[in-house]
Amino acid sequence: MNDGIYMRREEIEEIKRKRLRHTLKYVYENSYFYRRKFEGIDLDRITPENIHELPFTTKQDLRSAYPLKMSCVPRNRIVRIQMSGGTTGQPVIVPYTRKDVEQWKEMVLRAFKIAGISSNDVIQITPAFGLWNGGFGFHFAADAINAFVIPIGPGNTRNQIRFMLDFGTTVLCATASYPLRIAEVAEELGIRPSELPVEKMLLGAEPWSDEMRRKIEETFEAVTFDIPGLTEMGGVGTVGFECPLRKGLHMWEDNYIVEVVDPKTGEPLDEGEEGEVVYTAINREAMPLIRYRSGEVSEILSKERCECGIEHITLGRIRGRTDDMIIHSGVKFYPRDVESILARYGIVHYRIEVGSDVRVLFEGEQSLVPRLLRDFREFIGINPELVALQKGQIERFEGKAKRLVRI
Ligand SMILES: [Zn+2]
Repeated sequence: MNDGIYMRREEIEEIKRKRLRHTLKYVYENSYFYRRKFEGIDLDRITPENIHELPFTTKQDLRSAYPLKMSCVPRNRIVRIQMSGGTTGQPVIVPYTRKDVEQWKEMVLRAFKIAGISSNDVIQITPAFGLWNGGFGFHFAADAINAFVIPIGPGNTRNQIRFMLDFGTTVLCATASYPLRIAEVAEELGIRPSELPVEKMLLGAEPWSDEMRRKIEETFEAVTFDIPGLTEMGGVGTVGFECPLRKGLHMWEDNYIVEVVDPKTGEPLDEGEEGEVVYTAINREAMPLIRYRSGEVSEILSKERCECGIEHITLGRIRGRTDDMIIHSGVKFYPRDVESILARYGIVHYRIEVGSDVRVLFEGEQSLVPRLLRDFREFIGINPELVALQKGQIERFEGKAKRLVRI
């Protein structure tokens, strides 16, 4: 069976073209929102190559569409909803049909296949099972392969560790910042993290640096995989998965058309130029979004066949989100850039405070300050105030970490 991972380029192009054409016609006929948005546009001449001629869909559009104004199907065909966005203001609702749930599962199954996860694995799913989509995609796929699933959800780190030991967890699904919290609690319990049976980790939901990855892998003696995905596109694990050779993220082009645009002008950018990632869902049913501005910052690394054999487009790992961008003294950077410097010195707990100045608070030795400062100047071009703190003084997170504070 062709599971889509190793589709040939011609096949990808053909299916993209076909599905885009179908999706545009479908949303035009079934969504009042898109019928209005596409008024006066000849949709028949839109192809993956000139898709940038279509207008964007924004988070604000989704907010205004609450509760189901953008849905393309009647209510009785919806089988579930998930939610994205903050705790204040109008929520962003993403409805699913049965086919959409299947699609979510199929995409996570691609990830499992690449990571070599099978029915012999014990999969501990720590993201939440709730409206904020985290755990369900992992669950659907793990269930489909008859793996041993521990749908534990977030929190209670001691219990997480106990279950890992007692049930022999081999695969951990988590936000990228959670493993280091697990390591810390394990050490408090007198357990070396490398003694835990976890062999593979699927980590996502927030940008994480290569240095942090090295630290996690050394600490646990485990292999990590970056699993991207956003609720608006159907959930964690839908849009792509990390290349097994770590050449970037392979984006499933038979399901999503991926562009990178200039966040200011909205103009499409070339390969190697960093900007905002824009997605078009071409294989979804309840609410396929056309040219959705994700707020994620990355670049297209390659459109060529990868050495791993995958011919889907390669996107760089997510560097940050447009709303996490810090501009200071004319220098533009993201929390992940700060993290990558700190993690080189073994620092994993930190907070960035941005006001009229940039302050970086970290748990570590005062004596590291001169070297850190030198690296901040050299690699980012900033001169932050550095504050060394004792262990335990920075807040810990079991879900998405909040490390950037604007004052
Ligand atoms: Zn690859």
